[in-house]
Amino acid sequence: MLTTHRSPRLTDNQDGIPTSASSAADNVYLGYPKPVRLRRQMRLSTEIAPRSAAVLRSPPGVRRNLYGGLLTMHAPRTYNRRSFLKTSTATLAAAPFALPGSLSAQVVDGLADDPTLNTLVPTAIGGPAPQGADTLTLRWLGCANHEIAFRDQVILLDAWYDRGPRNRPLGFGPDDVQRADVIINGHAHFDHIADIPGIARRTGATVLGAPLSTEYARSEGLSDGQVLATAGGEHLEFNGFTVDAILAHHSLLPREVLDKLAPALAADMSPLSEQEQQQQAEIRARGLSDPRIITEGTIAYLFTFDNGFRLLYRNSAGPITDPERQAATDLGGVDLAIIAYQGHPVAESQIAVTLPLVQLYQPGIYLPTHHDTIAGTFTDIATEPLFMAIRDALPETRSISPLYRTPVVVDMPSGTFMVGV
Ligand SMILES: [Zn+2]
Repeated sequence: MLTTHRSPRLTDNQDGIPTSASSAADNVYLGYPKPVRLRRQMRLSTEIAPRSAAVLRSPPGVRRNLYGGLLTMHAPRTYNRRSFLKTSTATLAAAPFALPGSLSAQVVDGLADDPTLNTLVPTAIGGPAPQGADTLTLRWLGCANHEIAFRDQVILLDAWYDRGPRNRPLGFGPDDVQRADVIINGHAHFDHIADIPGIARRTGATVLGAPLSTEYARSEGLSDGQVLATAGGEHLEFNGFTVDAILAHHSLLPREVLDKLAPALAADMSPLSEQEQQQQAEIRARGLSDPRIITEGTIAYLFTFDNGFRLLYRNSAGPITDPERQAATDLGGVDLAIIAYQGHPVAESQIAVTLPLVQLYQPGIYLPTHHDTIAGTFTDIATEPLFMAIRDALPETRSISPLYRTPVVVDMPSGTFMVGV
């Protein structure tokens, strides 16, 4: 099936600046690629509860959250993707909700006991680091911001924490960030880069980004030695992991949709005060609106950890580029992908952009990103329609949409993960 969408006028989705590429007007820019190879058709899933005594130190079903309150919780959910592949269909058919034999109790116990599982405090702002050498803890921090904590290192993906009026608060601000080792920027629009220079100045973190992004960071006071420009094609080595930069493409949204959406959103809320307008304008100035961001300034990043675990980050949902297609062909799938689900208010229109990207990278675990409100520009997008489309197209992929700051704790060698508080 081929779905296409033609737009008479295209624009950048953040700031309403029309793209300079006049040829884009007639480009067919949304479409399903050829169906990807599916390793195995298997739709059964399983879910287990970890040993409650190990996880819940409060009475069963009740857990103390870090902000002092008691939170009624279900036990964390544990998944293991690779064990599905190792377990025969017959076994699963006979006992579809049984614990697959290859899912190690040791791994589950390790995850359940991990100090990051039971806290909403990111490692960057003083929370614990994951315990196991092969444990990775991932947190969504609004928009396309994420934190990866790994072996006492903090990697931030984008940083826009001071989000201004009418945006849902994250529970912390940029000044709360105490530590970061590496900051990765997907592109230089304000909603991805605004707080990177300040955090990097304070923490000494190395900043990776497209040349436009690193130029912006330097203009905000970072030294040449603190930034690494990645135009796509670079392979960079860090402590325990490598990063491959892949030239991606920013999202393209029909101008007429955005022009009609903005007043509709404004009509559904009380007007911004003068002070709020000023605050919003100041925040939106912390980044670039250079039209080259669309084609040259948007980078996808592939992390490969030394245990073989691969994580893909793509912070804008635009067309698939040739370098991405090449990289994905070489990879044959990643373990975890964070791919933007953002922009179109109609789910089917956005699925037509995001699903092909998910199909391209064939992740074991998929996390959407950028699907929350940016006041006056975007509204929250429900993730269920996308997740159902992914379930149909990629039955091996587990889609999860954790809340702000909720830990996703992954045992990288086995692919087992647990979603915490
Ligand atoms: Zn953008």
